[in-house]
Amino acid sequence: MIIFIISSCTIDEDKRIADESNTSDWLAYGRTHSEQRFSPVTDIDTANVKDLTVDWFLDLPNDVALVSTPLVVDGVLYFTGTMNRIRAVDATNGKLIWQFDPDVAGHIGNNRKPGWTQSRGISYYNGKIFTATWEGRLIALDAMTGKQIWSVLTIDPEKKMGITGAPKAFAGKVLIGNGGSEAAPNRGYVTAYDAETGDLAWRFYIVPGNPADGFENDAMKMASETWTGEWWKYGGGGNAWHGFTYDEELHTLYIGTGNGGPWNPKVRSERGGDNLFLSSIVALNPDDGSYKWHYQTTPGDAWDYNSNMDIVLASIKVNGVDTKVLMHAPKNGFFYVINRENGKLISAKPFVETTWASEVDSITGRPTINPNARYDSGHVYITPSPHGAHSWHAMSYNPHTGLAYIPTIHDAVIFDASKINLNEWKMNPGKGGIAVGISDPDSLPRPYYGSLQAWNPVTQKLAWMVPHQELWNGGTLTTAGGLVFQGTALGKFNAYRATDGKLLWTYDAGLGISAPPITYKINGKQHIALLVGWGGAFAGVGNKSLGWDYNRHTRRLLVFSLEGKAIVPPQPPPYFPSPIIDNTIMVDDAVAETGRNLYWQCFGCHGANVIAKGMAPDLRASSIAINKDAFALVVREGAKVNMGMPAYKELTDNELSALMHFIRKKAHESQN
Ligand code: CA
Repeated sequence: MIIFIISSCTIDEDKRIADESNTSDWLAYGRTHSEQRFSPVTDIDTANVKDLTVDWFLDLPNDVALVSTPLVVDGVLYFTGTMNRIRAVDATNGKLIWQFDPDVAGHIGNNRKPGWTQSRGISYYNGKIFTATWEGRLIALDAMTGKQIWSVLTIDPEKKMGITGAPKAFAGKVLIGNGGSEAAPNRGYVTAYDAETGDLAWRFYIVPGNPADGFENDAMKMASETWTGEWWKYGGGGNAWHGFTYDEELHTLYIGTGNGGPWNPKVRSERGGDNLFLSSIVALNPDDGSYKWHYQTTPGDAWDYNSNMDIVLASIKVNGVDTKVLMHAPKNGFFYVINRENGKLISAKPFVETTWASEVDSITGRPTINPNARYDSGHVYITPSPHGAHSWHAMSYNPHTGLAYIPTIHDAVIFDASKINLNEWKMNPGKGGIAVGISDPDSLPRPYYGSLQAWNPVTQKLAWMVPHQELWNGGTLTTAGGLVFQGTALGKFNAYRATDGKLLWTYDAGLGISAPPITYKINGKQHIALLVGWGGAFAGVGNKSLGWDYNRHTRRLLVFSLEGKAIVPPQPPPYFPSPIIDNTIMVDDAVAETGRNLYWQCFGCHGANVIAKGMAPDLRASSIAINKDAFALVVREGAKVNMGMPAYKELTDNELSALMHFIRKKAHESQN
């Protein structure tokens, strides 16, 4: 009898999360189980959006990079900030109800890498909030009080894996994956736990292990037939770090899977093969994690074309017939429409220039890969780049316009494996590796790096697009008010007309935006909420600073309405620090080169070429970086670990000195 009651509760909870007509809440990562990020609320529309103003805001002085989607449940807004610090606030005014700090700094140990302070979101189910920390804890909190109910470790602390994604709660369970395909010889998997107790329900591996150990299930046996050589020595990768969708209608779970480890397929699977289930959508039975079907977007991936991007459910007309589909715009640049009842491809067309493949064959469902795309004979220009044509920044779908709104990236790279000794290549246990050289090309596929694209999944054609100067822009929200909202790398929060992309409203947040907006209606008032705090894995790349500063710019939760009267203190203008010129360190180029080789651990936060982008202080202007003792205290002894700066305990005095030489060299260069 008790079992019956619990199961009927969970069914009700999933019906509630799947309910597209709910206007007052934002219950799941993509609002509802469909992950459409479409709201039926019409109060803010194309005519009045020009009057949108800040209703209330929260300054978040202890946060840095903010990339997450807040949730709204029964009038409470929940969000995760830096290092998984979760706050519950009154969704009408921002008044703090509770906060929870899982002490990530105290648990991180040696498991650090760019991204470890950032999380893309939380999950709600049956009165609980779920969060997953970088070092692998999945934690359930009481949504009313913020008290921890249970915590489980989902990754082996010895493995170089990490979690930046939101857990996915569904059907009485909560699912979490992990990332790390490039970090070490890792074998990706997802795990489902009982939402009430945290007991392990099931685990599904994405790539097969060593056949000598036996396969976990028939799906792994099937997958093993698509690998060659001794793939298990390299782990294989496939890590699922994003893109989990629960189909309440069909009671099916879809997992978007990661790229191969290493990237070069000739190393991980020496005689070729599709390498299932890399770069795929895998449909699983949510009850026991058993395999239902898969569709592989990039067979034998060689380009980091993971399929971890969001999986959006809809019903659309296919040849005039209403069809249950999923839509997916992975890194590889094709927009996929797949029949979610059987996993069969309906259509796939490129939404950017794709030099790796000319088309996807509609009969076989396989891409037609261009000659030398897998860098068999020297260097090759490839677009999309490993940034992807689309990354984790949320895509939305508006059933009224029939368009999907994709934060699109236009980038290219040169792949060249000719300098790699494929026979002797090994993954560096500390550094990982990809087994191919990559460099910047002379030309780009477009004169701009990013765009907002409105894509018609029925015709597989671009409806409209807005170019963005930078490639790393926020996710999208679309509404029945006929609007699309998006924040940009340049700190503008924009509202566009959903039918044609006309810019109708813009707000200058004064700091780069990486998170997607949400909307909810309480007490008759529609709110739009957005976290502002430049971040994410690629926010630190490039040779140019956008002027977003670690110390100067205020990270914020902004909430807008048509009646807002809040006065928001202005942000300082973009700031470009002056490097300190310190002649007590005479830069030795050979020593600086050693430092450059160590700096790969630093650039995700401190910025490529020591040009900070806002996630951490600019080391060229840091007084700590010119003081040997202070530098050792922070970098090796962990004096700032609570602020997100890990302790690199293994660094020797000479290595610390080499880093200082490299930093000075870059400081002098930028002074010239
Ligand atoms: Ca990857």
